[in-house]
Amino acid sequence: MQIQNVSAIVTGAASGLGNATAAALAAQGARVFGVDLDVSDAPALDNVAYVKADVTSEAELRHAVALAAEQGPLRIVVNCAGIGPSARILGRGGVHDLGLYRKIIEVNLVGTFTVLALAAEAIARTEPLDHGQRGVVINTASVAAYEGQVGQVAYSSSKGGVVGLTLPAARDLAQHGIRVNTIAPGIVETPMLATVSEEFRAGLAAGVPFPQRLAQPSDFAQLVTQLIQHDYINGETVRMDGALRMAPR
Ligand code: NAP
Repeated sequence: MQIQNVSAIVTGAASGLGNATAAALAAQGARVFGVDLDVSDAPALDNVAYVKADVTSEAELRHAVALAAEQGPLRIVVNCAGIGPSARILGRGGVHDLGLYRKIIEVNLVGTFTVLALAAEAIARTEPLDHGQRGVVINTASVAAYEGQVGQVAYSSSKGGVVGLTLPAARDLAQHGIRVNTIAPGIVETPMLATVSEEFRAGLAAGVPFPQRLAQPSDFAQLVTQLIQHDYINGETVRMDGALRMAPR
C-alpha cells in the first residue's frame, strides 16, 4: 500500500509513538488526521491536522473518520491511543479498582476496536487498488500481552485482546481488501519514561539482549511504514523488542 496522497488516521497522535508515526506518514506524503484527547499542546507538523476525540466516544470517532474520508481516500489507520496505569489484584489499598480495570479495557481494547470498525466502514467504500486492496489498519499491543509484569493485569488483558482480535479482524476484512496487523513494542523511550532517572533507564536498557538500548518512537514509526508498504503481511502481530522477555517485575 502506498502512503503518498491518501488520508491516514493516527490515534494518540499528540504524544509518543502516535506523534512519531503521524510525523513519519506526513513526511511520506499522507494527509494525516491525528486523533487525541487533548490536542492543544500537540507539536505542529506539516500535513497533520489534529482532531480532538476520545477513542471511547463513538460519536467523536465518527466525526474524525468522516473528516479523514472527506479528504480521502482514507486508507491507513494506526491505533496508538492507550493508557497504562498499574495496580495489583490485591494491593495495599485493597482489591484492584474494578472501575480502573474496565477503563483500561475500554480505552485500549474497545477503543482500538471501535476505531478499526468505524474506519473500516469508510475504507470499504473507497475504490480498490491492485489486487483489490483498499487499506490497512495497524494496532499497538505490547510485550505485556505475553509477559505482563506484576501490576499489569488490566493492561495485559487489554493488550492480549488487541493481539487476539488481529487475525479474526484480518479475516473479516479480507473481502473488503483491508489488512490488519499489530505491533507489540518492548520498552520505548516516550514521554512516559521521561520522568524516570537516567540510572533506571540504563537498567531497563541493560535488560534488552540486542540492540542493548531502549527503542525509540522512530523505530516504531519505521515498522508502521514497513507494515503499510508490505502487502503480504496480514493478520500478524510483530514484536519490536530487541528480543526482550519481561521478568515478573
Ligand atoms: P503516550 O506518550 O502516553 O501517548 C498516548 C497518547 O494517547 C496520549 O497523547 C494520550 O493522551 C492518548 N490517549 C489516552 N487515552 C485516550 C483516549 N481515550 N482517546 C484518545 N487518546 C487517548 O504513550 P506511548 O508510549 O506513545 O504509547 C502509545 C501506545 O503504545 C499505547 O497503546 C501504549 O500502551 C503502547 N506501548 C507503549 C510502550 C512504551 O514503552 N512506550 C510499550 C508498549 C506499548 P493523554 O496523555 O492525555 O492520556
